[in-house]
Amino acid sequence: MNLAYQLVHELPGTMAGMSHGDLDLRKAFTFADQVGHLCPEDARKVEETVLPGADSKTPRSIRDRARREVIKIDPAAAETRRKKLVSERRVEKQPCEDGMALLGAFLPAESAEAIYRRIDTIARSLKTKDESRTMDALRADALTDLCLGVPSNVRTKIELRVDATTLMGLDDNPAILSGYGPMTAQRARELAGDDTSEWYRILTDPVSGVVIDHGRTRYRPTKALRDLVNARDQRCCGPACNRPAATCEFDHTIPFRDPEGKTAYDSAGPACKFHNDIKEHGWTVTQPTPGRFLWTSPTGRTYDVTPNDQYPPPPF
Ligand SMILES: [Zn+2]
Repeated sequence: MNLAYQLVHELPGTMAGMSHGDLDLRKAFTFADQVGHLCPEDARKVEETVLPGADSKTPRSIRDRARREVIKIDPAAAETRRKKLVSERRVEKQPCEDGMALLGAFLPAESAEAIYRRIDTIARSLKTKDESRTMDALRADALTDLCLGVPSNVRTKIELRVDATTLMGLDDNPAILSGYGPMTAQRARELAGDDTSEWYRILTDPVSGVVIDHGRTRYRPTKALRDLVNARDQRCCGPACNRPAATCEFDHTIPFRDPEGKTAYDSAGPACKFHNDIKEHGWTVTQPTPGRFLWTSPTGRTYDVTPNDQYPPPPF
């Protein structure tokens, strides 16, 4: 009933798509679910962006695109909804048939029950008279702490893809959390600044979508990042070298084996074999701004090199 009402009164584009056979019920339902809390005007704007071409998209892709546009259309409202849901966090347990139960994971009932009781016991022990969190929130926090808080050898890598300009706070483009999908810019900035967990920031250029900072997730650059660095510098970044960038190697300014080493636009340059090799023989190099290299020789003399002085570096 709810979907029928929404389609007829609030989502004329989705309704039309169904009439023309571009959208099946599942895609329409997926889309309507994402825009359900928007005002009708905003919902129509999201329809106009997301629905063209939807016949060849999967429901999952439609959901992610819709979610991204919903965040974009009103980032502050999206952040408010996120915070409200965080305050409603809880651990849910449902008995299933044949001795099974669902506790976020589909487990044998006895395991689900034992885990839930353990969580519940920890939560109750935390519920002092000064504790403002609800029992639901305490159980959710106890579960999180049990899974993540105990020091262990297991290292999880979670990738967060965010536009460089968004991370700098210049805009509020939605970020992508790997395995989940679009999320609000504000939350992405909080996560990116949280160095207590294993977050991997992957920065993208907001215009081209090219990844400009892979952090430590990969040693070899993508072709797009390599092309971008080569286009910026045009030639070898070594002192007084005219070797064209296209015939150079991709040089990590700070060696990747160092803890601060990363595969990124502002920490890489094209280098010929000779200039790559002299770093193994006492020369050091830094990159104070993208496209400007400061080389220091073994005797301490410095060379200030801007391989391509024709163009100012792009503003990121
Ligand atoms: Zn060179």
